[in-house]
Amino acid sequence: MTTAQTLAAGLMDYDEAIQTYDPVLGLEVHVELGTVTKMFCGCPTDFGAEPNTQICPICLALPGAMPAVNRTAVEYAIRIGLALNCEIASWCRFARKNYFYPDMPKNFQTSQYDEPIATNGYLDVKIDGQTVRVDIERAHMEEDTGKSTHVGGATGRIHGAEYSLLDYNRAGVPLVEIVTKPIVGTKALAPQVARAYVTALRDLLSSLGVSDVRMDQGSLRCDANVSLTPAGNPLFGTRTETKNVNSLRSVERAVRYEITRQAALLATGTRIVQETRHFDETTGTTSPGRSKETAEDYRYFPEPDLVPLAPEREWVEAIRASLPELPWIRRARMQADWGLTDLQMRDLLASDAVDLVAATVDAGASPAEATSWWSSYLGQQANVRGVALNELPITPAQLAAVIAKVVDGPLNTKIARQVVDGVLAGEGEPDEVIAARGLAVMSDDGALHAAVDEALAAQPAVADKIRSGKLQAVGAIVGAVMKATRGQADAAKVRQLVLSTLGVEG
Ligand code: ADP
Ligand code: MG
Ligand code: ZN
Repeated sequence: MTTAQTLAAGLMDYDEAIQTYDPVLGLEVHVELGTVTKMFCGCPTDFGAEPNTQICPICLALPGAMPAVNRTAVEYAIRIGLALNCEIASWCRFARKNYFYPDMPKNFQTSQYDEPIATNGYLDVKIDGQTVRVDIERAHMEEDTGKSTHVGGATGRIHGAEYSLLDYNRAGVPLVEIVTKPIVGTKALAPQVARAYVTALRDLLSSLGVSDVRMDQGSLRCDANVSLTPAGNPLFGTRTETKNVNSLRSVERAVRYEITRQAALLATGTRIVQETRHFDETTGTTSPGRSKETAEDYRYFPEPDLVPLAPEREWVEAIRASLPELPWIRRARMQADWGLTDLQMRDLLASDAVDLVAATVDAGASPAEATSWWSSYLGQQANVRGVALNELPITPAQLAAVIAKVVDGPLNTKIARQVVDGVLAGEGEPDEVIAARGLAVMSDDGALHAAVDEALAAQPAVADKIRSGKLQAVGAIVGAVMKATRGQADAAKVRQLVLSTLGVEG
């Protein structure tokens, strides 16, 4: 199927496509594990280092270099398998997947093939109050490739590029690939199910502490397989595989686009070709990549340089016992503990604020205060800076310290915001900001008395009016005191002081 054919066929209206065809999905998610070192050598895995500074003879596959398996990576893979309700193999092996790619120095990828570490699990995904069980075929270990940058072309792809740059820092970073069984019966919900599955998986992996799950940095990547079959037909159609979709929203858009594209082709009698495709974030469309290899093309064979893995049962059971509370169960518990409505909880989730609120509550703040700060003032600050909430340079402990000062009196909300501004601006801990900026509500009665006396002396006519009972004149004095104290006094208290100073009943 050529691009010209796609253009000629156009796209079918989504609703019409769903009436005519049943979509079948298959999702392959690659997660980069957050281990300190690589899968088979001691090189660091930090993201964003100078190109080719985190490499050694093993991950460059120099002659004679011998790999050794990273135990933590195996432990993380088992954690993932257990959390996905998989069986953990008592014996499994690595395999060589042979293919040439310039960013893969070995000329093969060390992966797992017919003997993966985890098989036959499931993940329950909530969508519109309904639960869809996504069956997991397997989760297997492998290593990442390096990264190529194609320079000089219009698209950033190799075709049309003038030259390519290769960075092997990522080569050998541990990956786990999680592959679903075909997901059937989702009909019109297919794009949302795909997104909800990747979201749930991301949250699960994050709670397991095995990865930073940053889709924007490639720590979590999704390949979305989509095929259509005439409605009611149990036989699957030919699938396409849209590679490396790198945001949750894109997963949904890519699946939806493929449904409308394939439907239009099928309706005109065009066969779908099994191929990989690229998703273009800007246009929301997919375009052809390479026609898909079959497993035979890869000439898989057991990796001769690594011994098989046989995780002891006690170890697996110890890992199972250490699994954290599942994120959705934790969330339901928090919503109840914090007394939030579904809508409030959904807003917190949408802004990724749940963990921050939880940590702020753990640091001593009330759930109401913590929720309100993260969802309103700090939400605005994150927006203004174009960063995620958890990238704001303030910790839950710092926020809890500010909140405590509001509750105990020395700060009011307005001044507390200035303290937070100071922390965000890198001026130090809340106490340092308060001292340096001279903040804090003036609770020192002596200073406040002096300010009131000064304001009354400066406006004797107003003072007389108040003495004669014209209480509406008090506002002018209160205003003057607030101005003199740069808004740090408590206005109600000032009013009371003015009246008592003049011997007038409030
Ligand atoms: P590949 O090596 O091509 O990536 P995998 O087995 O790793 O193959 O992954 C294929 C994915 O596509 C799996 O999630 C599988 O369940 C799914 N799948 C298989 N056949 C179809 C189909 N006809 N339509 C949609 N998805 C499919
Ligand atoms: Mg695959
Ligand atoms: Zn190395």
